[in-house]
Amino acid sequence: EADSRLTHIKDSIRSIPDFPKAGIIFRDVTTLLLDHKAFKDTIDIFVERYKDMKIDVVVGIEARGFIFGPPIALAIGAKFVPQRKPRKLPGPVVSQEYSLEYGTDKIEMHVGAVQPGERCLVVDDLIATGGTLAAGIQLIERVGGEVVECACLIELSDLKGRDKLKGKPIFILVDFE
Ligand code: AMP
Repeated sequence: EADSRLTHIKDSIRSIPDFPKAGIIFRDVTTLLLDHKAFKDTIDIFVERYKDMKIDVVVGIEARGFIFGPPIALAIGAKFVPQRKPRKLPGPVVSQEYSLEYGTDKIEMHVGAVQPGERCLVVDDLIATGGTLAAGIQLIERVGGEVVECACLIELSDLKGRDKLKGKPIFILVDFE
């Protein structure tokens, strides 16, 4: 049963060549959201995996971690914490810089949102180079949280992003090489 759900989930993701720039194939999850079965199965698979793992906090990375993180958090009885692009969060923040192909980027999280010792699940839609998830993990660990696992719908496995996660487990639904 799991396999047929995953095939349908993969088929519901639209691929758009040369977006946002030449040579990139953008994996668009907005078409998955239009398909009730694909969206529901996606959330169900994550919930089945995490419901008994004593997760205190689901941490979602802007922007598409905000789509998939909250329904998982509600279903497993965890808090939801957003990690946002710079200057979006109004309270005191911790911030983490990370490198991109050209230049750097930064994500931020509210101080006190994750408490020392809390067990965290980090959620985003897709892992490419792994830089974003690695920064998200660092933010949590800097405030004393424990990262139990990362969860993404999609892995671009050729980019070997999981090597950047310092051995943290990552759970993936579909692979686009
Ligand atoms: P990275 O830090 O390289 O792992 O990039 C991950 C972030 O960039 C995620 O938040 C993704 O949503 C986005 N991203 C990177 N590559 C793609 C792609 N080919 N299609 C859609 N989103 C992407």
